[in-house]
Amino acid sequence: MNQRKPLLIIVSSPSGAGKTTLCKKLLAEFSDIRFSISHTTRPPRPNEVNGKDYMFTDKETFDQMVDDEQFVEWAHVHGNRYGTSHGEIRAAAASGVDLIFDVDYQGAKQIKNNYPDAIGVFILPPSIDELKLRLNARGTETPKSLETRFKAALGEIAHFDEFDYLLVNDDVNHAYDRLRAILLSERIKKFRCAHHAKRLLE
Ligand code: 5GP
Repeated sequence: MNQRKPLLIIVSSPSGAGKTTLCKKLLAEFSDIRFSISHTTRPPRPNEVNGKDYMFTDKETFDQMVDDEQFVEWAHVHGNRYGTSHGEIRAAAASGVDLIFDVDYQGAKQIKNNYPDAIGVFILPPSIDELKLRLNARGTETPKSLETRFKAALGEIAHFDEFDYLLVNDDVNHAYDRLRAILLSERIKKFRCAHHAKRLLE
């Protein structure tokens, strides 16, 4: 039986740095990692599935969940509310899988306050020009929301110091190799697998 302490891995980045692609690659390769499905008041984009990408929630329900203290963390991001429920973390812990969070820097800070062993990975675009290009390429944003997201990206990058790892996404395969290396190394940190050595000594 795997008694290693589950890993909580927070992946944050400004919009357009390629975080979603990298998280999806990790989830496709490792069956023992689960994606933490956030609640949001943002409307779904085309191809987004309720209960898979997000729990799409109306504002009243979200506020009720805040009042009922159902969130580990929640924040306003780009004019909408996003939150991680305690239920997500409990469910992952119960099934012994690692959990990956795609949250902004505010969420990352709150998760780390509640779970100091959680690790934070911040993904950076290689340059401002490349960030602008990637934001445009998404094609689902209006010019106004694009401008909002660009300004927010700079504000988000200013929080790089709150993370444990900085990953420049210059090339998706190269960046993925390094994200994978972070996961594999963190999994064998002494405090997460000391039980094995202790069992040998018993
Ligand atoms: P998007 O609307 O593009 O899916 O996400 C916008 C931003 O909200 C991203 O930076 C994403 O990481 C962040 N986000 C998604 N879910 C959560 C959450 O549960 N909590 C917080 N704090 N941020 C979130």
